[in-house]
Amino acid sequence: MLRFAPSPNGLLHIGHAYSVIANERMADAVGRALTVRIEDIDQTRARPHFEAAILADLDWLGVDWKRPLRRQSEHFAAYEAALDALRARDLVYPSFASRREIAESARITGAPRDPDGAPIFAGDADILGEREAARRRREDEPGAWRLDMARAIAGLPPLDWTELDGTGKSVMRVAADPLAWGDVVLARKDVPTSYHLSVVVDDAVQGISHVVRGEDLMPSTAVHRVLQGLLGLPAPLYHHHRLIMGPDGRKLSKSNGAEGLSALREAGLGPADVRARAVDLAAVETEA
Ligand code: GLU
Repeated sequence: MLRFAPSPNGLLHIGHAYSVIANERMADAVGRALTVRIEDIDQTRARPHFEAAILADLDWLGVDWKRPLRRQSEHFAAYEAALDALRARDLVYPSFASRREIAESARITGAPRDPDGAPIFAGDADILGEREAARRRREDEPGAWRLDMARAIAGLPPLDWTELDGTGKSVMRVAADPLAWGDVVLARKDVPTSYHLSVVVDDAVQGISHVVRGEDLMPSTAVHRVLQGLLGLPAPLYHHHRLIMGPDGRKLSKSNGAEGLSALREAGLGPADVRARAVDLAAVETEA
């Protein structure tokens, strides 16, 4: 099974259309079904009307996907159970520094950055000072739960994954570099899970054999392999597809002018036109 996993924080644009096409191509090549997963763990950003619009766009594009869809916000208990299993093995710890405090401290110390450009977590004591860190711990303030990455990988064999080309042929083994991320957040103060944890649990629950997603998510696969190793979950095969870039050379998004599929539809394009446009745009060589 394959999955297209949009976050209902906005409308689908041409980059999403390409991701769907890449999923369909792989599904055809390997003879498996494609399903849809709504990644709505962040309930402050997810909106039901975006989900409805996404599903309408998929219909309009003529995407044949296997029901039922899985909505992550309905499965918090499953993510909490996975977190509990890691907690029982002392592989996660609470942390209290806010995103702002982490950014502020990194600005001063020049802390190294993770593949997403965020500062690698230096520990509450370094960021807040020993006393303040101890106070927040003692007072049991709400915090995030982080994976102790060094400890986690110490108990696992070296991790890698199989990266396929877009037609499902095995291309290479990629060595996972989870230390590049440091102690990632597995549950936030306001959300009882995280992207990494919920994706790994869901891919296993849904029997996802092939993960097809944008190449911006390739570094995250290292974290997913660690969590799969820790939780005893199977490793899917992966294909990280090219991204359609905006005119500013960055990943296409609403802020750099990505047109929603609904706008293209209103401008008179049909599903075949949009599909052809997505494939053309993804083929454009971009300067790294
Ligand atoms: N929800 C993610 C996104 O919208 C995709 C996650 C994944 O495919 O692993 O970019």
